[in-house]
Amino acid sequence: MKGLTLAHLYPHEMNIYGDTGNVLVLRKRLEWRGIPVRVVPVAVGDELPRDTDILLGGGGQDAAQGDIGADFVTRGSALRAMADDGVVMLAICGSYQLLGHEFITKDGEHIAGVSVLDVVTKGSDHRLIGNNHVETEWGTLVGFENHSGLTELGAGTTALGRAATGRGNNGSDLTEGAVRGNVFGTYLHGPVLAKSPGFADELLRRALSRQGASQALEPLDDSLALAAAKVAVGRPR
Ligand code: GLN
Repeated sequence: MKGLTLAHLYPHEMNIYGDTGNVLVLRKRLEWRGIPVRVVPVAVGDELPRDTDILLGGGGQDAAQGDIGADFVTRGSALRAMADDGVVMLAICGSYQLLGHEFITKDGEHIAGVSVLDVVTKGSDHRLIGNNHVETEWGTLVGFENHSGLTELGAGTTALGRAATGRGNNGSDLTEGAVRGNVFGTYLHGPVLAKSPGFADELLRRALSRQGASQALEPLDDSLALAAAKVAVGRPR
């Protein structure tokens, strides 16, 4: 089996609230199954691996988004082509915002996005902070959010799910995240995949299926992760 290449965007700048853990979760879930995996960090100026199967980006402060913004926007056509070609993407909070058209910070700075997702984000003085879980068709995603950005979905854009306890995309329409094909954006930090093993495997299944490897993933013992998710879901906001 060829295995999978995980490209990890801006690991130094875009890794607040443990989001690099999403890379670790996917790597381990492949290793535990004996599936070869290569993790490639992509810093400012680095090439994106041409054989990327899963692209991951974490959250970042407004300043960090400004720091990587100019580099990120140069990758726009490559990222849009990858999305069109079915490359799996998981973008958390600040990375999610920059997969959209733009993020206008609460101070009025316009940080251009790459328009992979039809969303626009505007910063607000009120931060949306707290534990949250989201009901999706791939099970409950569990994490927490901390963002000033309020994201509006474009007309044809599907939400990842409904914000069960938190504020989600914008604190008013109860949507959380966005989905376009194999591209997933969410505000859930944590890392979200640590307590959402079903979703982690959905990402792996999609990446393997894109390679033509359609055999089912060997089940793993997720009892600890699911027990942690159950406790987290019961936590107050
Ligand atoms: N800086 C962005 C905001 O405040 C993203 C924050 C994050 O990635 N947690 O909305």
